[in-house]
Amino acid sequence: MITVSCKEETYIYNAYHMVKAFYPEEDVEPCLDPEREALINVSCGVSVADRGCSKLETERELYRQLESLTGRSLPWGILMGVRPTKLAARQIQKGMNLPEFIEWFGAERCVSEQKARLAYQVALKEQAVITRALEGSDSTYSLYVGIPFCPSICSYCSFSSGAIDAYRDKVEPYLEALIKEIRGTASMCAGLTATTVYIGGGTPTTLNADELDRLLGCIRELYPSLKEFTVEAGRPDTITAEKLEVLRRYGVTRISINPQSMQQRTLDLIGRRHSVESIREAFALARSMGFDNINMDLIAGLPGETLTDMEDTLRQIEEMHPDSLTVHSLAIKRTAQMGQSGYKAQTGDIEAMIEAAARSAARMGMEPYYLYRQKSIAGNFENVGYAMPGREGIYNVLIMEEVQSIVACGAGAQSKLVLRSQVPNPNRRKGELTNIVRCENVKNISEYIAREQEMEERKSQLLTVK
Ligand code: SF4
Repeated sequence: MITVSCKEETYIYNAYHMVKAFYPEEDVEPCLDPEREALINVSCGVSVADRGCSKLETERELYRQLESLTGRSLPWGILMGVRPTKLAARQIQKGMNLPEFIEWFGAERCVSEQKARLAYQVALKEQAVITRALEGSDSTYSLYVGIPFCPSICSYCSFSSGAIDAYRDKVEPYLEALIKEIRGTASMCAGLTATTVYIGGGTPTTLNADELDRLLGCIRELYPSLKEFTVEAGRPDTITAEKLEVLRRYGVTRISINPQSMQQRTLDLIGRRHSVESIREAFALARSMGFDNINMDLIAGLPGETLTDMEDTLRQIEEMHPDSLTVHSLAIKRTAQMGQSGYKAQTGDIEAMIEAAARSAARMGMEPYYLYRQKSIAGNFENVGYAMPGREGIYNVLIMEEVQSIVACGAGAQSKLVLRSQVPNPNRRKGELTNIVRCENVKNISEYIAREQEMEERKSQLLTVK
């Protein structure tokens, strides 16, 4: 166990995550200790004295000490935030060119040249996507719709999704409540233009064809013209011609079929309960039915996987040739089965795996277009979306760059409102301001259904009183 003691609260978050990134296999415990002389003390033998420096300088000092102690560097240096491209976009707006940015990012945040290049390239791409999507209007929003059911629960997953077999009797009332919430949302947002709709989860195609028909029919009625309409088909074991036909009928423009890995041994190990062959079949079926924007998700660092496994997976993906490829580095959260069992991610091959994925995407003619990092991400790496030109996921860019409000419907769905002016940040220290406000729907599926029913009853009582 490594203890990270900080004299001031403001250092705890980044110091903890930095130490954890240097020692991914160790348990790390952060604590506040105002009595200490040093600003930051790490029990492995690191101490940052209080010299009256800025927070950034203090963090750089901590980083340098950890770097010299371990003989390792972190690809993203002291940057612990989830959106490195925001920093790049800001510098681009100030007129910084690529060589200047590489130097600045390295000096300021100890970021490697390779990651600085990636952040700069993605920031340029994102700006182009945003300009095309919003066309200068600030009266737009996007809609997220969550379907919290899956055929089985993957062991690395931390989403609040339930296995469909255990929730079959909840699907109908959930759908009813969800459709009411979507209708209410659309009337609340009347006057704004919806840019994109994203149906995620969970696995939306766990719904049967009739259920999908009702949901998509409602969305299309309310949102007849969209720049992008995505449905995460996700698990190949939920995809049928009948369901894809419903998606086509309602003008879904983009779907995801997510293998995560093309190694059967791995799929079995992580509880996916489908075959590699079913991925190929689902992909071929979708293509044959005219879907011309199909994304595939992969995860680098899945249990037991080596670089050879990843290269083989990429070879098989290239044979299918999706329109975009999203490469995640494994992130284990406490709520996932793997997190609860104390599984520690192996970070050894991850760097080589994500480099192999970048080369594979380039061979397919794709460019990186969005990028984000997560807490608990293996090896302190990142998740990158690659796409063929014109096949970028617009919703992904809008939500990541926080340039537009995302209004979310469904159990556990989180709305993110981008306000025109700043308000006190409800989640931070007193006095801090923000223009981004998040609010989360109740996670529990039964409670979500009960709430919508309660609201309906209240409404009808009010009408009776009138
Ligand atoms: S299919 Fe996706 S949402 Fe469902 S359990 Fe697996 S990773 Fe989680």
